[in-house]
Amino acid sequence: MASFIDKTQISVAAGKGGNGAVAFHREKYIAAGGPDGGDGGNGGAILLVPDDNLSTLMDFRYKRKYQAPSGQDGQTKRCSGKNGQDMTIRVPRGTVVRDAQTGQIICDMSGEGKFVLCRGGRGGWGNQHFATPTRQVPRFAKSGLPGEAREVVLELKLLADVGLVGFPNVGKSTLLSVTSNAHPKIANYHFTTLYPNLGVIYLEEGVSFVMADIPGIIEGAAEGAGLGHDFLRHIDRCRLLVHVVDVSGSEGRDPIADFDKINEELKSYSAALAERPMIVAANKVDLLPPESDNLERLRAYVTEKGYDFYEMSAATHLGTTELMKTIAGRLASLPPIRVYEPEFVKPLAEAGAANALQITRHDDLWEVSGAWLERLVSDINFGDYESRNYFDRQLRKSGLFERLEEMGIQEGDTVSIYDLEFDSVP
Ligand code: GDP
Ligand code: MG
Repeated sequence: MASFIDKTQISVAAGKGGNGAVAFHREKYIAAGGPDGGDGGNGGAILLVPDDNLSTLMDFRYKRKYQAPSGQDGQTKRCSGKNGQDMTIRVPRGTVVRDAQTGQIICDMSGEGKFVLCRGGRGGWGNQHFATPTRQVPRFAKSGLPGEAREVVLELKLLADVGLVGFPNVGKSTLLSVTSNAHPKIANYHFTTLYPNLGVIYLEEGVSFVMADIPGIIEGAAEGAGLGHDFLRHIDRCRLLVHVVDVSGSEGRDPIADFDKINEELKSYSAALAERPMIVAANKVDLLPPESDNLERLRAYVTEKGYDFYEMSAATHLGTTELMKTIAGRLASLPPIRVYEPEFVKPLAEAGAANALQITRHDDLWEVSGAWLERLVSDINFGDYESRNYFDRQLRKSGLFERLEEMGIQEGDTVSIYDLEFDSVP
C-alpha cells in the first residue's frame, strides 16, 4: 500500500559564512605590501517555496536533512569568497511549518512567494579591513558566522473550500469526479481513496470553488491501517463540509446511524470541526428500493437538526448540479479559507560570562570572540535599532567592558567582534 505522507519532521541548516583571509600584497621588487585578505562569502539560506504540482510530503520521507552550502573563504588580492548558494525546498501549497520543539507555527505556505526558513551565516572580514595608520600589519581576520539551523515539522493542510466526508464507498469520489476536473480513483470497495483529491468546480464565470475528497474517518480506524484521524487535518481549513450518506442501504447499514457515527468521529477529532457548516447529501437514490423509507427518515432526522438536505445520485448525475449551486451560494457568505498566523518567536541568544570570551589585542584593536558571543551576533539584525539595543544590553550585562578596561583598553581603541567594530568610549 502506498502510504500518503502528510506530516513529517526535517532538519534544516543554512550554510556557514566563509572565513576572512589573512594575506599581504606581494609583487616582485615591492617589499611589505599592504594587507589584501578578502572577505568570506555568506552562507546559503534555506528557502521554502510553495509548489502547486506537489500534493504530498512524500519526498521528505526519503530526505530528512537539508544543509545549504557554506560561503567560500576569502582569497588573496582582496577577492571575496563566493556566497553559498541558497537552497530552495519545494513544499505543497498549504503546508504549515512548525517548530519541532514548541509546536508553534513558523509559517503557513499557503500564499505565493518564498519564506526564509534559515538565514545563512555572514562571512568574516578579511584583513584588508583592519589596516590603519597605526596598525599596518594586521595578521588576523574574522571567521564566518554559523548559519541558522532548526528542526521543523511540516504538516499538509489542504486548501479546499469544501470537504467531502462520509463512510467509505458512499460516493464521495464519484461526486467529485462528476462535478469537477479531478479524476479520483473510484471502485466498489473500501479503501479506494488513500490520497485526498482536490477538484475545482466551475459553475459559471466568477463562480468556482475547490472541493476535496477526504478519505479515512472510518477507513483507517476500522481497518487498523493507521489512517485514522490523520486525514482529518485536511478538512481543517474547509469552510463547508458536505456529508455524503449512502441512503440506499446498499451495504446493509442504516443511514441515520452512519450520519451520527461520522459526526461523532469529527467531534472527537476537533470540536471546531464538528461545528463547521455542513450540508447533508443523501446519495445513491437510484438504488433505493421502492419500499424503503430511508430517504424520508434521514431527511426528517437531518432537517430537524437544522442541516440543509439534498438527495442525489452521483452515478446518474441526478441532483449534483443543484447541490453544487447550493454549495456556491453558501460559500459566498462564509469566511475565507483560514491562513495560519505565525506564532513562533525565536528566542534570542543571551550573554554568558565575559571571562568565557577570548580577547586578543592587535595594537589598538581588541578582538573578542567566543561561543556565546558568536551565537548572539548571529541572532542580531544590525539593521534594526531594537536588535542593536538588545545586543548592547547583553554585552553590558556580560561585563565585557569592565574586563577590557582591566586589560588596559584606551579611549579611541577599537573593539572588534566578528563582523562588527566599534570605538571604545570610556
Ligand atoms: P467513496 O469511497 O465515498 O469515495 O465512494 P466511491 O465514489 O469510490 O464510490 C463507491 C462505489 O459506489 C463505486 O462503485 C461507485 O460507482 C458507486 N456509486 C457512487 N455513487 C453512486 C450512486 O449515486 N449510485 C450508484 N448506483 N452507485 C454509486
Ligand atoms: Mg473515495
